[in-house]
Amino acid sequence: MKEEAENLLKELWLSVHEGLKERGDINDSLREYLLDEGLIKFVNDKISLTEEGERRARKIIRLHRLAERLLNDVLGMGESKIEESACKFEHIISDEVEEAICTLLGHPTVCPHGFPIPPGNCCIKGEREVERLIFRLSELSPGDEGVIKYVVGGKDLSNKVVSFGLLPGEKLKIIRVFPTFIIQMGNTQFALDRDLASAIFVLKHENNGEKKEEEKHGFFRKRRRKGWE
Ligand SMILES: [Zn+2]
Ligand SMILES: [Zn+2]
Repeated sequence: MKEEAENLLKELWLSVHEGLKERGDINDSLREYLLDEGLIKFVNDKISLTEEGERRARKIIRLHRLAERLLNDVLGMGESKIEESACKFEHIISDEVEEAICTLLGHPTVCPHGFPIPPGNCCIKGEREVERLIFRLSELSPGDEGVIKYVVGGKDLSNKVVSFGLLPGEKLKIIRVFPTFIIQMGNTQFALDRDLASAIFVLKHENNGEKKEEEKHGFFRKRRRKGWE
């Protein structure tokens, strides 16, 4: 589909779901195209999305926000620079790549601006076939090290995060995960409850030379493929 048409679908979706203002002027050929494709319809002289249009638009939003996370968290591009690239990205990612990126990023629920990322099939299935880079802190094991990338959650949680100094860019190491999470940052150790640990997304460093860990993951993947759980 034409990029321009996808952008219009996106705007219509945002106006319905997130209260963004619609643009008034839509050129005739674009409107014809979307009508022909069965993606929009007129209700009382007003354009709205068909079911298929809704589905496609939701997908574009999802791709845009996933791309933002990828560019921001993994590639380290600043928030001011990611918009343009994310806008190109959203038109070219295939379903397969989309799921791989989402899985790699730990199935994020919000974009770097705090807007929700509509979940995909991979999020619902909890797909683990792809080697992931970003994990919730609550998913890590003792000895794992990484860098905090972002925190998801309400104001209470965010306040806690700030008061602990658990900010993006901070390095941490997992000391223990039971009965509470104990992490080390610099020379200080903190205990975190599970809610807090689940809210913190960490870019995990490679565990150099820890073959055992690798074998465990490999085993886990194999088990899933055979459907043992
Ligand atoms: Zn965003
Ligand atoms: Zn996902």
